[in-house]
Amino acid sequence: MTGKTHIIGGIASSLAFAQLTGLDPVIMVGAGIIGSLVPDICHGGSRMGRALPIISKLINLIFGHRSFTHSLLFLVIISFLMDRLLPYEALKNGLMVGMISHLVLDMATRSGIQLFFPISFKVRFPVTIRTGSLAENLIFSALTLVSFYFGWQVLGYYI
Ligand SMILES: [Zn+2]
Repeated sequence: MTGKTHIIGGIASSLAFAQLTGLDPVIMVGAGIIGSLVPDICHGGSRMGRALPIISKLINLIFGHRSFTHSLLFLVIISFLMDRLLPYEALKNGLMVGMISHLVLDMATRSGIQLFFPISFKVRFPVTIRTGSLAENLIFSALTLVSFYFGWQVLGYYI
C-alpha cells in the first residue's frame, strides 16, 4: 500500500474509534495518522523512513522489511511504552488504532506481513491487491468516504 492509503486508513479508523469511545477526535486523528505511518519505518523510502533515516536503517538491518514493525509483538511493546511514557488515552489509542489499520491494509497485499514475528509465517487475506492498482484506488476512495462520514459525526462540533 502507498503512504497515502495508509494515512487515509489511519484517519478513517481513528475517527471511527473516536466516535465509538468519545475520546478527543482531534488528538485521535493526529495520533492515528502518525500511527498509520510508524510500521513502515523499516522501509527507508517510506515517509517515516525518510523522517528518521538512522533508526530506519538500523531496524531494516536487524529485522528486514515488514517483520518486527508489522507484528503483534511490536504493538504490545509500543502499547507498554505508551502506558509508561505518555499515559494519555486519546494519544495512545489513536496511535494504536493507526498502527493496526496499517497492518490490516498490508495484510491485503500479496507479500503479507509477519504478524507473529519472530515466527516468519506470513499473514495475508485470501484476496490481495497490488500496490498502486485500481483496487488500491478503490480502497482509498472508500476510506475517504468513511473518513468524511465519521469526521462529520465527531468533528461537526468543531466546525
Ligand atoms: Zn507496511
